[in-house]
Parts: sequence; C-alpha cells; structure tokens
Amino acid sequence: MIDLLLTILPRYTSYSDPPAGISILNAVVKKEGFNSKATDFNLIFYKELFEKNRAVWERIDKWMDRGPTAKKEKKPREKVLAGDDRKELNKIFDIWLDIIEKYNPRFVGFSVFTTYSITPALEFIPIVKKRFPNIKIIVGGAGTTPHNKKLYDMVDYYVIGEGENAIIDILNGKDGPGINGIPAEQIDDMDTIPFPDYSDFSLSQYICKGKMLRVTGSRGCVRRCNFCDVYKMWPLFRYRSGNLIAEELFYQWSTLPCKPDMFLFTDSLINGNMKMLRTFCEKLIQLQSENPEFRPKFKGQWIAGSPRFTTIDDWNLLAEAGCDTLFVGVESGSEKLRWAMNKKVKDEWLSYCIEEAYNRDIKMRWFTIIGFPEETDEDFFETVKLYERYKWMNQKENFQINISINEFTLYEVDWVIDHEDEIHYDDNNNWFYEDIIKEKRMARAIFLQKKILEWGYDYRITSLMNFIEDFSELEKILGERYGWEIFGNYDLYLKLKNDLEKKYKEMYNND
Ligand code: SF4
Repeated sequence: MIDLLLTILPRYTSYSDPPAGISILNAVVKKEGFNSKATDFNLIFYKELFEKNRAVWERIDKWMDRGPTAKKEKKPREKVLAGDDRKELNKIFDIWLDIIEKYNPRFVGFSVFTTYSITPALEFIPIVKKRFPNIKIIVGGAGTTPHNKKLYDMVDYYVIGEGENAIIDILNGKDGPGINGIPAEQIDDMDTIPFPDYSDFSLSQYICKGKMLRVTGSRGCVRRCNFCDVYKMWPLFRYRSGNLIAEELFYQWSTLPCKPDMFLFTDSLINGNMKMLRTFCEKLIQLQSENPEFRPKFKGQWIAGSPRFTTIDDWNLLAEAGCDTLFVGVESGSEKLRWAMNKKVKDEWLSYCIEEAYNRDIKMRWFTIIGFPEETDEDFFETVKLYERYKWMNQKENFQINISINEFTLYEVDWVIDHEDEIHYDDNNNWFYEDIIKEKRMARAIFLQKKILEWGYDYRITSLMNFIEDFSELEKILGERYGWEIFGNYDLYLKLKNDLEKKYKEMYNND
C-alpha cells in the first residue's frame, strides 16, 4: 500500500512532456516522508485513443468541451456520448482502475487541469468511489474552479489554489488553507518548494522522449489583463531565486538518464522580475562553462517592455544563456485596444521586442486575441497590418514565427462580471457584445488565418486548428470536423467575411 497516487486527467493539452504540477507535489510528499507515486492518465488517454483511433478521440474530445467558464448560456450543452465511443472510454477507465488497484493507495489525487478535464472527472470519480470505497479522493488544479459544485460533492477533498501545503495537511489528516472551501493562501517563499520529481514517469513515452521538461520560475503575474484569469489562481506574483532555477535545470539534466535539454517555463511570464531573470541567465551560463556538455535551451512567456525594462544587455544575456523561444502576448496590433485590454504595451515596445528577439535568432510565438468586445474593424486591421509588416522575418533560414489566434473567451474574470449586462447569448449559446457577434469573430479569425498562411507564418487558431494539415479549404475542414455551427450562422459569416475583405481592400488598396 502507498500513501498517495497522483495523476492527471485528460485533457491536458498534449503529451509532449510529463505534467509539472503533480511532479512537484510528488517531490513535496516524498520529502515529508510519505510513500507516493505519480502516473499520467492523460498520457494513457492519448496513447490509447489519439494514436490508435483519431476519430473516436475527436468525438470524445468534443464531448469533454464544457464551453465558456462564465455561464449565462441559453441552453445546457448536451453531454451524451454515443454507445461505441462510450465503450472506448470505458476501456480507458478500466486501464486507470487497474493502475489504482495495483498501487492500492490510501489517497488518490486527481489533477483537473482544464475545464475539459471536469467531464472525465465527473464520470470517473464515482466509478473509483464505488470500486474502492476506502480510498480517499482529492481533486485540485486550475480546472476545478469553475462549475465545480457537483465535483466538490463527490470527492473527499478539493483543493483551491496551490497544492503543496494542502496535500501535506490532507495526508496528515488536518484541515488547512485551500482545503474544502477554506480560503487558500499563496506560498510566500517559493524557494521552499523542492525540484519536481519526474522519475516516476516513463519519459520515453512522451513525444519529446524526455528531452523536454517543465520548470516553474514564478507564479502569478505583474499585470492584470482584462481577459486573463491568472490572478484568480495566484493573486500575487511570487518567484524563485534565479540561481535555484538554473540549478534545477542542471539537476534534471545530470540525474535523469534521458538528459533533458529543453525546458519550458510554466510561468505566466518569465520577465516579471528582470533581476531574477538576469540571475538565472548568469547562473545558467556559469553552469554551462563548468560543464561543457550541458547546453540547455529554454522557452517561456514574455511581455514586451521598454528598452529601459529589458535592455540590450538583457537581450544578449538571454541569447547567451540559451533562450530558444518566447511566447509573446501581442493580443492586438492596435495599441488603443491593448490599453482597453489593460495589457498596457506600447507599439514601440512591441516592435523593440520583436526585432531584438529576431536579431538573436530567438524564435517567437505571438498570441493574438480576436473579438475583444471593444475591437473595431479598424483595430482588427491594425493586427493584420502588424503581421504583414513582419512577414519578411519568415524568410530567414531556420526561423519561422508562429502565430496563435484565439477568440476572446469569457472567463469568469472581473472585467466580464463588470460587463455582465452588456454580454448576451444568441440561440446557439454564442456570446455577443453589441455588434461583436460570433459570425464576426469567426470572419476576422479566418481572414487573419488565411493572411498569415500566405505570409509564411506558422499558424494556429488555438485548438480548432490542431492536427489540420491541409488548409486549402479551411471553412470546409472546420465545418465538417467541428460542425458548421462553429461559424454561427454560416451565411451571415460568409457575408461578414466578404464585407471585411472588401473594406480591407478599400482601406489599404490592397489585394
Ligand atoms: S501579462 Fe499575460 S499572464 Fe499577465 S495578466 Fe496579462 S495575459 Fe495574464
């Protein structure tokens, strides 16, 4: 018997690398002398379904989608899984149950990482309870926060916020912050958190074969963008010492047989504290000079700042330390709209960031939001023009900028709550705000998608574009795969897209 089995439920975006959250918890629990094991149910789900039967996987994936987190929809979403798909899912459940039986834990901790994960949690947890009535069930993770009452009622413990202290309290039979409705407290000193323990996973099973791991340098954010819910999980910005983060990279590289050499920061942004980032880079450079075979690369999210905030020396340091890719929250080409979003990034800072990264071969992914409620056609065209302006960058050898296009999502954040009276839902459950209707958002997204493909960017309308290889008939592919209702009213969508193309040509005399 073990004390705790930790696992993560689908859908956790991909199976490129093992989950960081439960790996940290595994290390915390072991450090306190408990006997624990981490396993990855999400990986089993991908291996058994995605790799073996893509069509079934897609239908189950769609079934897991719970829609926006701010709930005012007109009709409940149907959550019925067809008979054969249900059988396939039950086979996965049987594999998971066998694993639980094998380890015979006192507690099982499920990470419910996304809102998608709530659907399998609601289905699987009652089965576990029935089969193993003596095992105590814990759930935690970002996905547990919205629409959670039903989930909370079926488990022994639910944890809101960070799990490191809560899991120890639970294993010791105590109540504590974050547990079962007791207000969470954020950890002040992140340097007390041990390095994640990835040793329980079969790292060779992941797409990156264990060559890429996640690392956490900070939690929370220094900004408060109107569309973002990071502050709900981590109200305060907290960070680890740069030296310790660099030492963690070296530790993972030197102790794991697969020698991971790519590290993906889980941070909301890696430049929230420049002093920490500089120390991290300097220590990493020092470790590399002492260990010539240690040549790690890293990727992380980034907010564009002024040259005073991120100096030329900082850019040089980043490149020397091994910065591979920055995920930049561009959001919109319109400075006015970025201010309305509370992003507060000036045009000149954005250009500075893009050009300095490009000059050092630091790859980029630009996150873009389409259909923020105050976005006009003119704001949208500024995004199109921004991406047109930098299309030449894709000509460089071994360098391609990836653009991720996201429809504005109604998370339950203060801005959305404050505008509740102005946000409505149409008969198909699509939200609208004045004339920002679903059809208009899709017209803009597809218009931009086609442009960026034409201009040589790597692409992605997040989640919708996953696994599409042929873009020649984009609407047809999306309609057949996800149902034509993703465009709203398709005829209206087509009309708005034609209007948009016409207006763009008129304004810019451009084909
Ligand atoms: S900078 Fe990024 S993480 Fe921070 S609030 Fe804005 S969107 Fe969220």
